[in-house]
Amino acid sequence: MPTTLLDGIGLLVTGSPEHGEGSALGEIARAALVVDGDGLVAWVGPSGRAPAADTQVDAGGRCVVPGFVDSHSHLVFAGDRASEFEARMAGRRYEAGGIRSTVAATRAASDEELAANLVRLLAEMRRQGTTTVEIKSGYGLTVHDEARALALARQYTDETTFLGAHVVPAEFVDDPDGYVDLVTGEMLEACAPHARWVDVFCEKGAFGAAAARAVLTAGSAKGLQARVHANQLGPGPGVLLACEVGAASVDHCTYLSAADIDALSSSGTVATLLPGVEFSTRSPYPDARRLIEAGVTVALASDCNPGSCFTTSMPFCIALAVREMRMTPAEALWSATAGGAAALRRTDVGRLVPGVRADLAVLDAPSYIHLAYRPGVPLVTSVWRAGR
Ligand SMILES: [Zn+2]
Repeated sequence: MPTTLLDGIGLLVTGSPEHGEGSALGEIARAALVVDGDGLVAWVGPSGRAPAADTQVDAGGRCVVPGFVDSHSHLVFAGDRASEFEARMAGRRYEAGGIRSTVAATRAASDEELAANLVRLLAEMRRQGTTTVEIKSGYGLTVHDEARALALARQYTDETTFLGAHVVPAEFVDDPDGYVDLVTGEMLEACAPHARWVDVFCEKGAFGAAAARAVLTAGSAKGLQARVHANQLGPGPGVLLACEVGAASVDHCTYLSAADIDALSSSGTVATLLPGVEFSTRSPYPDARRLIEAGVTVALASDCNPGSCFTTSMPFCIALAVREMRMTPAEALWSATAGGAAALRRTDVGRLVPGVRADLAVLDAPSYIHLAYRPGVPLVTSVWRAGR
């Protein structure tokens, strides 16, 4: 692959505080970036000082940001729940059990239907600047259907997550312990070869602390690293459990106690906020400022799923984070890029510094502030993944 010089960048966001005066985000005005023959960033710096490259592309003064790292999505499913959304907007409350209707549609779908839906959603994500995505299972909830979801997702990303413990399926409502035995036994056995992560929905209406701990412990014994859905619909034990087991990330974090915040700030667990969910369920937003001020690492992700939040757009999540959670535009962009990488324990994506993968989005705007300032406007004009 030839080397490429991307020049004429009006503002380059690197994600590294060594760049730019006083910006924790890392910004270089009037910048250039060179991609090496392996699709990695070789050089970033002021325009005019860049080393020579085989080909040259002019950014025309636009802003260039790292490709978004969407560390939480549920893209393997069939059907949609538009009528449930309509009813919710008319006043009905969101409950975790709505997942079961997607489970029925997903089980009934062919492999081809699931793949086509996944590919369509991944293309939507890419057009909006997402270059790394985590994908969970969790709408199969049988040994066969969970394994097929993960085998499919694995064709498109290394960041696959076994979420057999998404909700207790209808056929186990009278025997939830029996379902946990299945998840931690035969289902885990079939899914572990296709997954990097294990996840559990630790919430009233889904799984309690003991069941969640059993799922994470069993996954860990099979080499899967932990992530947790917790404290979305109310206070609960999930955040403390995630910190205790050393989960990479605990996601939602809408209802947090002082003890939860203390545990997060003294652990290596990232708090991943999913403001599209609060938007789409008309719920109170998590308090991002409280987390940031306590020194917690915060990531932003889409949680794209057909029930509680059917958006693929990280720019939309950034706009919500700024408008509704009082994050600065710089904090929100960092959380959607380097923060997402931290939630996936990745150091090779989420920034634009030498040695990392050349994943970037070119914005038709002079500054990343426009991601929040111009909500709903498709500002991403081109997306590079590994320099292409
Ligand atoms: Zn989720």
